[in-house]
Amino acid sequence: MRSSSRARASKDTPPEWSPPPALRRRFRRRLLGWYRRNGRDLPWRRTRDPYHILVSEMMLQQTQVDRVLPKYEEWLRKYPSLEALAAARAGEVARTWRPLGYNARPRRLHAIAREVVARYDGRLPSDEDTLRSFKGIGAYTAGAVQSFAFGRRAPIVDTNVARVLVRVFVGRGNRNETSLEKRLWSLSETLLPRRDVFDFNQALMDLGAMVCVARRPRCPICPMSPICRAYPFNPDQEETE
Ligand code: SF4
Repeated sequence: MRSSSRARASKDTPPEWSPPPALRRRFRRRLLGWYRRNGRDLPWRRTRDPYHILVSEMMLQQTQVDRVLPKYEEWLRKYPSLEALAAARAGEVARTWRPLGYNARPRRLHAIAREVVARYDGRLPSDEDTLRSFKGIGAYTAGAVQSFAFGRRAPIVDTNVARVLVRVFVGRGNRNETSLEKRLWSLSETLLPRRDVFDFNQALMDLGAMVCVARRPRCPICPMSPICRAYPFNPDQEETE
């Protein structure tokens, strides 16, 4: 899911999309507490290296975590830095990517590496506009790189995050309304804590991937059940996924 802009809530924002501060605090506390007990231990969560995080995010764009894990390790053994990737031949990069598929991704990653080495002294820029100027980096990936690598208070919205936010704060919202994407980005930004942004964004994704899944969400074990508008979840209430 992408957004052309990250907008803040305006006076026209319906109240369910602009939760009061006390509810935001409860959401953050519950989410972070759950994540510390249940969050997945993934290799890209043990690094703050912007390039390593970018590799993981590009690989995860279309591919399940368990398929990404071995390829992530192999890729970084072969191309441990942006310079190493920039110096590689295109054919070899494409072969190394196999069998992840969606082969525009290695081409784009390779092009990003070459541009960063040529124009930014080998250091991935940290600001949103420059990150999004690279082909292959949309709003979600820019937010992920900013928050995971640079510790910035940058929101993220992907399919998992969108599902969690709509269910918790809106309940049975119309998932097709035109302003939905803007509202999701605004809500995600509103909810961000001042500190622990890394854990908060990782936790949002884990909750959507492990508990508040598309079909048969695990409401009885969900930390959000006391504050969730969709609890107990009824699939007939949801219009589209
Ligand atoms: S209570 Fe159920 S619907 Fe609500 S966030 Fe948790 S898993 Fe999702």
